[in-house]
Amino acid sequence: MAAKDTPLFPRVALLGIGLIGSSLSHAMRRHGLAGEIAIQTRRSETLEKARELNLGDHYTSDPAAAVEDADLVIFCVPVGANKAVAELVGPALKPGATVTDVGSCKRVVINDIGPFLPDGVHLVPAHPVAGTEYSGPESGFAELFEGRWAILTPEPDTDADAIEKVAEFWRRVGSDVEIMDADHHDQVLAITSHLPHLIAYTIVDTATELGGDLQKEVIKFSASGFRDFTRIAASDPVMWRDVFLNNREAVLDILGRFTEDLTALRRAIRRGDGDMLHDTFARTRDVRRGVIDAKQA
Ligand code: NAP
Repeated sequence: MAAKDTPLFPRVALLGIGLIGSSLSHAMRRHGLAGEIAIQTRRSETLEKARELNLGDHYTSDPAAAVEDADLVIFCVPVGANKAVAELVGPALKPGATVTDVGSCKRVVINDIGPFLPDGVHLVPAHPVAGTEYSGPESGFAELFEGRWAILTPEPDTDADAIEKVAEFWRRVGSDVEIMDADHHDQVLAITSHLPHLIAYTIVDTATELGGDLQKEVIKFSASGFRDFTRIAASDPVMWRDVFLNNREAVLDILGRFTEDLTALRRAIRRGDGDMLHDTFARTRDVRRGVIDAKQA
């Protein structure tokens, strides 16, 4: 393992330089994790912005050129774009390189990137459970990953040294690392992240369909609860479209359970069953205490 003052990876390629890619660039610079950073992004405006912000040492719109000679390649594009990018970079990867990503769904990453990697290139998928509702290279900051989980989902036959090096990378940007099966990750995140986003998008959309005065009052009195949903529902539409398209089964499963529970609450309200409502709300209050105790608040 590299000593703290030598870079963990001589050359790192970031494919995609939005919120997560740019935050990784800041964090790698701050903690001296990369000898040099190559940045690739699709649109020239984004590449220019990354250059202005001095996020890397090399800039290109060509994914294959970015990964040339890279020891670590990090896919930071929306989950639905991984496959096309992997197809382009596969033949250009250096033997022995490690490929990782930051996507919010994990089984699909293994299915979409894995087949394009030559023998001897290691795939260690990762998901930083950290984010904001902002997008683009200007939205990143070095502290984004501090005190947050980074979940790694390597397949059982993955090279142990490659897993450890990726784990060390995330530890050095300030994250706690957990290793998990990809399908299990997708189930856990369906309830902790994907369903809450779907609910927020729905509530805000329902409110926007209310007519005239009622809609104005929604904004005026939003601090009563609605405001917090608007923050989540401002999250990037492309990223979240791809999350729901690529974690379909787990989201549909949890959505089925949620719908049943919502129907039960609806029935309790209709029947005036205060005990049922009170018991439910008392249980959920305990969950909040657990979140605070786990320093995830
Ligand atoms: P972002 O700020 O919107 O940046 C997306 C980057 O991907 C940009 O460089 C963009 O390039 C590029 N891109 C977009 N569509 C593409 C396509 N079809 N083909 C190739 N490149 C494309 O996104 P982000 O928030 O950093 O999210 C990146 C990844 O991180 C996603 O997989 C997401 O699931 C994961 N993630 C996000 C969060 C969060 O809170 N945002 C949290 C954890 C994980 P151009 O601008 O040049 O088009």
